[in-house]
Amino acid sequence: MLTAMDNIAADRYDISSSSWSELDAGALLDAFIAEKRADRLHVLGFPGNLDFRFSRFAELLNLLVNNVGDPHSPDKSAMNSKAMERAVIAFMAELANGDPAATYGYVTSGGSEANQFGLHQGCVQLPQARVYCSAAAHYSIRKNARLMRRELVVVGCDAQGRLDPSELARACRADAGRGAVVAATIGATMTGAVDDVDALVAAAAAAGRVYVHLDAALGGLVTPFTAAGPRWGFARPEVGSVAVSMHKFLGMPVPCAVALCRSDFVESRVEGEYVGATDATLGCSRNGLACALLWYSLATQGWSGLAANAQRGLDLAEYAAKRLADAGLQPVAAADSVVVVFDRPAEWVCRKYHLATEGDRAHIVTVGHVTEEMIDQLCRAAAAHPRPGGTSLRESR
Ligand SMILES: *Cc1c(COP(=O)(O)O)cnc(C)c1O
Repeated sequence: MLTAMDNIAADRYDISSSSWSELDAGALLDAFIAEKRADRLHVLGFPGNLDFRFSRFAELLNLLVNNVGDPHSPDKSAMNSKAMERAVIAFMAELANGDPAATYGYVTSGGSEANQFGLHQGCVQLPQARVYCSAAAHYSIRKNARLMRRELVVVGCDAQGRLDPSELARACRADAGRGAVVAATIGATMTGAVDDVDALVAAAAAAGRVYVHLDAALGGLVTPFTAAGPRWGFARPEVGSVAVSMHKFLGMPVPCAVALCRSDFVESRVEGEYVGATDATLGCSRNGLACALLWYSLATQGWSGLAANAQRGLDLAEYAAKRLADAGLQPVAAADSVVVVFDRPAEWVCRKYHLATEGDRAHIVTVGHVTEEMIDQLCRAAAAHPRPGGTSLRESR
């Protein structure tokens, strides 16, 4: 929804009439930067980690780095960062319990494209199968099923917000012999719930062969460092593909994600003679700047740095749940998750702290830039300003 501010901004940036001087246009961009940087301290509800600094590499902004085609394929332009992209994919494949030598992957425009890539491979493997996801799955699963004209079965959730295995089994029994493409969520957008993939595989077997795509947009950099770590991802043979957003928990100045898939499912061939690359990706030109920055971030943090960040996020979610409970806001935090859901406060509090909301509940995500002080501030504001007319249990207690 456009706010009044956005409408003013749209007029302010109008370029239809006459050209701007570099001085005036630059001043407006500087004002934009200052405004967004100041606002960073209040961003609590969206999963983008804002704790990063890449300005040292500003010269990258004077280059076009374009990773056209497959990361492992040469291309005629050669202005690419594919060697760095391959290192990123190998690292992420290992983090997902895959064998880097047997895992195809590339850096996508975001989690939605990575989901599309994975679901596409599943639908190619199982041409008769329907796609199954939970009511809490990200809307990109619905969008992608629609784009592929594949029938989608939305299955209910259990009390913890996970795809309900018994409901999945019931739906799959009706589709016996067709196989099943199951989109499981590792960190649901609203609640942070992590689907029980073991149970889902067993339930979906009623349909025949099972292909599981893991939407780990948020959880892909948290779950590997929890007790479930050794068993998640490609540790299960039924998991064919994994999607992890990289601008969320990791923190990046541009949206991007990693799409991973068992390489024996992926057919790479020369799609464009003109660029001279094999190409199993869904794009053509791809963001080489993102690959270079991703490489730097992962290479300097390494496994231990990522583990420490995940632990910090989990600890902070626990802290937030305690503080929100003290403030009477009825928090619920899914196990091993950096999302905490609580009673939706007054509208201005939601806006000030960039809270994501659904009905009478709101949530925060404890990514890298979030501090205890930010959480304390939110708790004070939310406790003092509940949502008018909100049907909180607080009154009935
Ligand atoms: C954010 C999110 C997506 C979409 O990822 P983008 O990188 O924002 O496109 C998909 N699935 C889940 C579970 C998410 O939380």
